[in-house]
Amino acid sequence: MKKAFLFFTLAFFLLPQGLKIRWADQEKFSRLVIEAPSPVEYDVRDSGEFYISILIKGNFSAEPIPSMESKILSSLQVNKTPEGTLLTLRFKKSSLWKLFEIENPFRILVDVRERPKGKVRKFALRTIVLDPGHGGQEDGAVGRGGTREKDLTLIFCKELKKLLESSLGVRVILTRKDDSFVGLDERTAIANNAKADMFISIHFNYSDDPTVKGPETYFLSSTATDRESRLLAYKENMGEFSSAPNSDIGLILWDMAQSQYLYQSSRLAEAIQRELASEVGVTNRGVKQAPFAVLMGATMPAILVEVDFISNPTEEKLLLTPEYRKRLEQAILRGIRNYMAGLR
Ligand SMILES: [Zn+2]
Repeated sequence: MKKAFLFFTLAFFLLPQGLKIRWADQEKFSRLVIEAPSPVEYDVRDSGEFYISILIKGNFSAEPIPSMESKILSSLQVNKTPEGTLLTLRFKKSSLWKLFEIENPFRILVDVRERPKGKVRKFALRTIVLDPGHGGQEDGAVGRGGTREKDLTLIFCKELKKLLESSLGVRVILTRKDDSFVGLDERTAIANNAKADMFISIHFNYSDDPTVKGPETYFLSSTATDRESRLLAYKENMGEFSSAPNSDIGLILWDMAQSQYLYQSSRLAEAIQRELASEVGVTNRGVKQAPFAVLMGATMPAILVEVDFISNPTEEKLLLTPEYRKRLEQAILRGIRNYMAGLR
């Protein structure tokens, strides 16, 4: 009797907790709801016109979904992988989706709507918008030798513009050409108005530890991957973070367009991060997700690159030399080329 009781208790605690999954059609879109017992980490692994794959990290069981008729959603496949539960949601029609989360209880919501006719944009690289971080009254980070982030991002972007134009035959637009203040909304508006195919925000990082060096590349996410990313997003957003969608209904207003480019943005971020890390000679720590306000309104693949740490005195000195900057600029060019080569 005692033995049986013990077994029962163990089994109860060892049993993976369940994800509750359901979907329903709304008036203009269909909504998939993934409910978890507590906040979970997740990634959009892949997406296209007709599907989206989401990896829910951790050991969860997924409760079977009662089959439901939907105008837009066709099926949901659930696979256990060593990393977690992989959900693949398929659409009946070419669709746009957006993903966001809400709390109490924790839910991941995916809204899918039919892609408006005639709005399919074939991918080509014609226009790139480079965004030199900070400017005007905003210095950004200041190195131990006194170098201001806003000056370095401007020099770097001007050089990178020339390199990308001559090597890729593209048009490159800068969000600022001098030491002037440009608001975050304005920066993405410049990219949207130019119908840019790519938005790259350039920054230089700061750490209290003077030995830290190397790149960190971010793409937009509705949630930051870790506390540090969240903090960085807060610093870079300079208090405009509060306007970023957070836990509830505000997220629904989040433009559907950017989530559509989430996957491409993550691929672009990975390609550039890899090349920069090997150029600076550090291990590639991978890309991060953070809710940067500057990336929020962009309707194209958009990333934020912290090229290197301005707080490392050795790197700061190197960054002031055109030769070292050129090496990093060429690493970014290689990253863009690799990303383009990887597109279907
Ligand atoms: Zn910055």
